Amino acid sequence: MLDRIVLASANPGKLRELAELLAPLQVQVLAQSDLAISSVEETAASFVENALLKARHASLHSGLPALADDSGIVVDALQGAPGLYSARYAGPAADDAANNSKLIAELQAHAPPWVARYHACIVLLRHPQDPCPLIAEADWEGQIQATPAGTGGFGYDPHFYIPSLGKTAAQLGAELKNSLSHRALALRALLQRWPTS
Ligand code: IMP
Repeated sequence: MLDRIVLASANPGKLRELAELLAPLQVQVLAQSDLAISSVEETAASFVENALLKARHASLHSGLPALADDSGIVVDALQGAPGLYSARYAGPAADDAANNSKLIAELQAHAPPWVARYHACIVLLRHPQDPCPLIAEADWEGQIQATPAGTGGFGYDPHFYIPSLGKTAAQLGAELKNSLSHRALALRALLQRWPTS
């Protein structure tokens, strides 16, 4: 039974969503930034490897079980970019506005619809040397919309249009996004295997 875990992220949007999704569990959730743990460099070549790097780093420095999410947006017309580099698409210190501008600029050379999906990999390490991490991955399908719409969510949400809803992810509200998103689906799958002893 886990009574305290650390979330291996410094992204406020992600931290908020993960904390909301974990709220029903009887577990105290701490952000690594609350424990003055710095972010690890994401040097790996896949979402799952980066998620493991982040969780191992947070667990090692906190002495707690660690949950990490590595996620991003994958655009078919751009051969999967921004992908692993979603957070720093427009450069190492890029903010959401710069990343979104670059995405829309890159897509101008391609005919719409701009099919895309969010991908999330979430891992739980019970301790830094845990040889059996829990791992779950999920996608959320949509399209990139050139004109931003909505004020909710974070990152690419104002440009991520879900055709079946006729809205962008930023127009959904937290509760609906947290029932549909890549992060929610991956976390739900992971919770099925959440340690009970
Ligand atoms: P990470 O912190 O390396 O996993 O980077 C994740 C990046 O992917 C974020 O900084 C966003 O740019 C993007 N991203 C992941 N999930 C979402 C989401 O739910 N909405 C919007 N952008 C997202």
